[in-house]
Amino acid sequence: MLSRNTNSLIDLVSLEKEKFNTLFSFADQISLNKLATQKGFGKTGALLFFEASTRTRMSFETASARLGIYPLLLDVKSGTSLEKGETLEDTVLNVAAMNPSYLVIRCGDDLNLSEMAKKVSMPILNAGWGKKGHPTQALLDAYTIRKHLGTCEGQRLLIVGDVRHSRVAASHFELAKKLGYEVAVCGPVDFLPEKTSLKVFSNLHEGLQWATVAMALRVQLERHAMKYSLTDYREQFGFTSKNLESLSDNALIMHPGPINQGTELDSDVLQDPRCQVLNQVSNGVLIRQAILYSVLEGEL
Ligand code: ASP
Repeated sequence: MLSRNTNSLIDLVSLEKEKFNTLFSFADQISLNKLATQKGFGKTGALLFFEASTRTRMSFETASARLGIYPLLLDVKSGTSLEKGETLEDTVLNVAAMNPSYLVIRCGDDLNLSEMAKKVSMPILNAGWGKKGHPTQALLDAYTIRKHLGTCEGQRLLIVGDVRHSRVAASHFELAKKLGYEVAVCGPVDFLPEKTSLKVFSNLHEGLQWATVAMALRVQLERHAMKYSLTDYREQFGFTSKNLESLSDNALIMHPGPINQGTELDSDVLQDPRCQVLNQVSNGVLIRQAILYSVLEGEL
C-alpha cells in the first residue's frame, strides 16, 4: 500500500526496517539541534483534516513551521466547498493543484488514501484514516518506548480497551512486526477484534503483569455508552492507581489521547512517573519533523 514513487506514508507495511531507524535517528538529532532542518523556506504543506483532531493536526502544523514550511490548514469545520457538495476527492485534487510539498490527510473510510496517492504528484501522509491506521501515532509511540526503554525489540505492549475500532492499534500491529515487539490486547469481548492471532488477556491484572508498556485506548463512547457501565469499565479495565499496582515500576503507561479521564485513565495517573502521555505528544512533533524532513529530502 505504501506508494514508494511519491514517498507517501499510508501504512507501515512497506517501509523498510532501516527507514524506522533513520527516522528515529533524525528525531534524536532534531531534539538535540544537530540537524539543519530549516529546508522548507518558500514551500507550503497542506493539512486536510476531514475529521476532528487536536494533537495530530497541531503537531503537523508545528513540525511544518519548524522546517520553515508554511502549513495550509483545511479544517472541515470551518466553511469549505464541501458544504456546497464538493466531494472529498475533488477537494484533495484541487488542493494538490496548488502544488504543496505534501498533503497530510485525516479522513474516514469514505476516502481511499492509497488510491489518492496514485492521483497526485506529491506525498500523502496518513494522519489517521478511518479504522485502517494512524502510522505517525504508532511511530511516535515506538519512538517514546525506544527513548525510555532503550529499544522496542523484545518489549511487550499491552493495548487495553477499544481495540476493535482503533486505528492506533491497527498501526501497532503493523509496526510490531517491523520493530520486534509483541502486542497483546485486553478489554471486554465486544472491544476486541473478532478474530485475532494476538495474545488476549481478559483480566487486566494478568495483562499488566506481562507488559513492559501498557497503553489505554479511548473508549469510543459514541459506540459503547449504551452497552457498558462506565463505572464497571473503569473498575475492570481502567488505568487507575490501584489497577496499575500490577504494572512493573520500570514499565511505561501510554495513551494516544484524547483521554476520557475517569473512564479509561484517571487524572492522577498522569502524575505517575511511569506515565508518558505528554512525552508522547512532544515526541510526536519530533517524529513528524523527521518525516517531513525526509519528504523534503525525497527519501521517505
Ligand atoms: N487520536 C487517536 C486517533 O485519532 C485516538 C482516538 O481518537 O481515540 O485515532
